[in-house]
Amino acid sequence: MESLLFNVAQLLKARVGTSLVNDFHEEDIQLDDDIKAIGPLDGYVRMRRTNQGLLVDGWVELTLELSCNRCLKMFEQPMHVTFEEQFYPTVDVVSGLPLAPFDEDEIFPIDERHQVDLTEAIRQNVLLALPMVTICREDCKGLCPQCGHDLNLGPCGCKPEVDARLSVLNKLLQNET
Ligand SMILES: [Zn+2]
Ligand SMILES: [Zn+2]
Repeated sequence: MESLLFNVAQLLKARVGTSLVNDFHEEDIQLDDDIKAIGPLDGYVRMRRTNQGLLVDGWVELTLELSCNRCLKMFEQPMHVTFEEQFYPTVDVVSGLPLAPFDEDEIFPIDERHQVDLTEAIRQNVLLALPMVTICREDCKGLCPQCGHDLNLGPCGCKPEVDARLSVLNKLLQNET
């Protein structure tokens, strides 16, 4: 995604502490095979020169299409996701020579053309920000466990399931009368 690519050659040549900020906007986003985004992505990024590379932080706003864990319908979930990641160069910005690979997993590479690509960092942070249980709305009534009717549309006419222990209690009560 073109708008998530930033050339940082000048920043890598600058003093530690120098920063560069950018707004970005991407019309058509496909972050992940499993999460569908609807509409554009907007964001803000700040990149700061550190001793070894860049400290990159910011936020993105996007809308995801998720399925409700209760009623199984698809719904739109607007998200505001912040991120903070380290990016290290893979080649020396002055000489163009390859640098020793870094072994930390959580570091993102700045490519050989001195570009920061935010796509993967945003994808990971959006996935982390997703709730474990996604529901279309707080009071979603879900589906009837017997007939599968969407209870948000009204009752279905099934008799409520009686808990086995309760029915034993009912029998006891009936015997007493
Ligand atoms: Zn629902
Ligand atoms: Zn039902």
